[in-house]
Amino acid sequence: MAEVLRLNELTSPRLAEVLARSPVGLWPVGAVEPHGPHAPLGTDTLIAAGVCERAAARLDDPPCVVLPALPFGVTRYAASFAGALGISEATLVGAVRDVAAAADAQGFRKVVVVNCHFEPEQVQTLRVACAEAGMLYLDLVRRRAAERLSKEFRSRSGHAGRYETSLELADAPELVDRSLMSKLPAVPVDMPAAMAAGLSDFPAMGMTEAYCGAPAEATAEEGAETFETLTDMLVELILQQA
Ligand SMILES: [Zn+2]
Repeated sequence: MAEVLRLNELTSPRLAEVLARSPVGLWPVGAVEPHGPHAPLGTDTLIAAGVCERAAARLDDPPCVVLPALPFGVTRYAASFAGALGISEATLVGAVRDVAAAADAQGFRKVVVVNCHFEPEQVQTLRVACAEAGMLYLDLVRRRAAERLSKEFRSRSGHAGRYETSLELADAPELVDRSLMSKLPAVPVDMPAAMAAGLSDFPAMGMTEAYCGAPAEATAEEGAETFETLTDMLVELILQQA
C-alpha cells in the first residue's frame, strides 16, 4: 500500500518532492444533489473521492496525489427538491480548463477526472472539456466500463438506489438513515427511456422521493466490492494512459 497523498494535507516542500517524480493528479468530481430521503446530498462526491483514495493507495509508480474534490456539478433533474445546488456547464468547463492548466504548470504529468454524477449534461460536458484540456476522464457510463458494475448501474435505472447507497454505506454509514432506507419501496424507473422521452425532472419520471432503484437492498459489503471494481478501472486507466 502506498501512502495516500492528499494535496490539501501536504506542505509545499513535500509536494515539491512529489512533483519531482511527475505525479498523476486524481480529481474527484461530484455534485450537491438530493439522493432520496435516506442518503446525503454529497453522495456522488463521496463516492468519487473514495475511488481516488483507493487508487492512490494502490499506486506508487507513478505516484498519485488526490486533489481536493469539486463538490458541485450540473444538477437540474432534482431541482424541485431541497439541496440541488448546481453550477452551469460553462462553469464546469472553466474549472476543468483552469485546473488542467495549473496542474500542468506545477509539474503533474496528468490529471484524471473521476466523476460519479451521471446527469447527461454533466457527463457530456466533462467528456468534451477533459479532451480539450488534456485531462483523462474515467468514463463509467461507457458500456465497456458499465458492464463491470452492478445490474442496477448497468440499467442506468438507479439513483440513490442499491448501487449508490451501498457505496455510501461502505465509506460513510453514519450519513445514511438506515432505518428509513430499509423501509423504502423499490421504485423502478427506466431513466434512459424517460430522458429519451424528454422528461428532465425527477418527479415527472416517477421519482417522487428523489430516488429510483432499490435502496433497501443496499449493503456495505456490496459497496466495498463495487469500490474495488471502480478502483481497478481507475488504476487501469492510469497505468495505460497517464
Ligand atoms: Zn448520485
